[in-house]
Amino acid sequence: MFSKILVANRGEIAVRILRAARELGIKTVAVYSQADKNSLHLAFADEAICIGKGPASQSYLNISSIISAAEVTDSDAIHPGYGFLAENPHFAEICHSCGIHFIGPSAENIRLMGDKIQARKTMRKAGVPVVPGSKDKIDTKKEAAKIIKDIGFPVILKAKSGGGGKGMRICHSEISLAASLHTAQTEAEAAFGDPGLYVEKYLEDPRHIEIQIAADSHGNMVHLGERDCSVQRNHQKIIEESPSPAIDSQTRKKMGQFALKGAKAIHYQSVGTVEFLLDKDGHFYFMEMNTRIQVEHPITEEVTGVDLLKLQILIAAGEKLPFRQSDIKFRGHAIECRLNAEDPKKNFMPSPGKIDFCYFPGGKDIRVDTHIYSGYHIPPYYDSLIGKIIAKGDNRKEAIIKMKRALGELLIEPTKTTAEFCLQAMNDADFKTGKYHTGFIKKFIDT
Ligand code: ADP
Repeated sequence: MFSKILVANRGEIAVRILRAARELGIKTVAVYSQADKNSLHLAFADEAICIGKGPASQSYLNISSIISAAEVTDSDAIHPGYGFLAENPHFAEICHSCGIHFIGPSAENIRLMGDKIQARKTMRKAGVPVVPGSKDKIDTKKEAAKIIKDIGFPVILKAKSGGGGKGMRICHSEISLAASLHTAQTEAEAAFGDPGLYVEKYLEDPRHIEIQIAADSHGNMVHLGERDCSVQRNHQKIIEESPSPAIDSQTRKKMGQFALKGAKAIHYQSVGTVEFLLDKDGHFYFMEMNTRIQVEHPITEEVTGVDLLKLQILIAAGEKLPFRQSDIKFRGHAIECRLNAEDPKKNFMPSPGKIDFCYFPGGKDIRVDTHIYSGYHIPPYYDSLIGKIIAKGDNRKEAIIKMKRALGELLIEPTKTTAEFCLQAMNDADFKTGKYHTGFIKKFIDT
């Protein structure tokens, strides 16, 4: 087992990892930027080291600062969290070459799944259904048109090295294709340093359903059910729930089997997520695999009772999965609402600055994962996620009631957050009946 873990992240996920490490009896090191000197995660770690200035490129993305911090503190493992360096294969390689364990899958797996075209190829070869579209990178309108001849409009152009919902363009006709191709390439180059694109059939009003998997280094692998992440804005998740109200047990089983098939094909080791799109006719297709812990992992923890962070650490330390597939039992229903420091009334504009006062809900079946507190200053440099509220019920109806109660108790002043929007969603007739899709949010706001 590791003796000391350095957490190469910030915010709520840093707090979450530090808690897991402490429960495992492992010493911890927090790293922080100058803008995060008053961040809660520092208080939860045994040691804390400043790694640079506020902008992420000068701190949380600065590999040499992070590796130096690990060496100075004699840390034997690094947990990357999500975002920042979590899916950077180069970082995983550097950790290994410095004799530091990277808590995640192999650099090869990260690289393979990070290249969306290679990921699609690999899954197709493994027999997993993949969204119809390109087999290779497309550079020209002619190449795109050739594929579209087979799959038809509408299509979605995506960045091959993409992520975070960035650089996607929906095209309904030849005319929009010509204009979108160039802008998508420019956007992809700016965001990911790679202009490479691919094209996929654009599924109308699908649901985003993902399967959580866990695999150890001894050849054992399980899935931990699904999460429905269809409430999104700009292709970014806002509300997630498990189980999905959209699938029956047969589809659930098939999705789980395909997720495992894909992960086995690449000899995956660690926790990970296989994302699918489910169309209106009940067909589902592989979209991508995320080789890290996800923001929405708590809902899986709530319905399975498995601590995914501890599991991820134990797997990286070479331990065997403590259960088999038949031991995984799903109990009740969990919903997560993301609290972003954004103003839904102003087109979700970020609202950084000081939080004068905050009070979090509690009571039975309510979990709050956050790093904010009264008097905290939200720095302008990072993601706007300031916390997550997770409600659990014996069934979906009860989970919604509990989430409504929790959101009603929440106070964050004067910062504008997505809480009110989430409450609106909980009261919505379509959400209540579970009949929603990735375009759900459009009825509340113009996205
Ligand atoms: P990223 O990695 O940037 O988050 P994803 O490929 O995971 O991008 O897609 C994010 C979201 O975009 C999906 O959850 C879905 O809402 C939408 N999307 C992606 N591909 C398609 C598609 N082929 N058809 C319809 N919607 C899509």
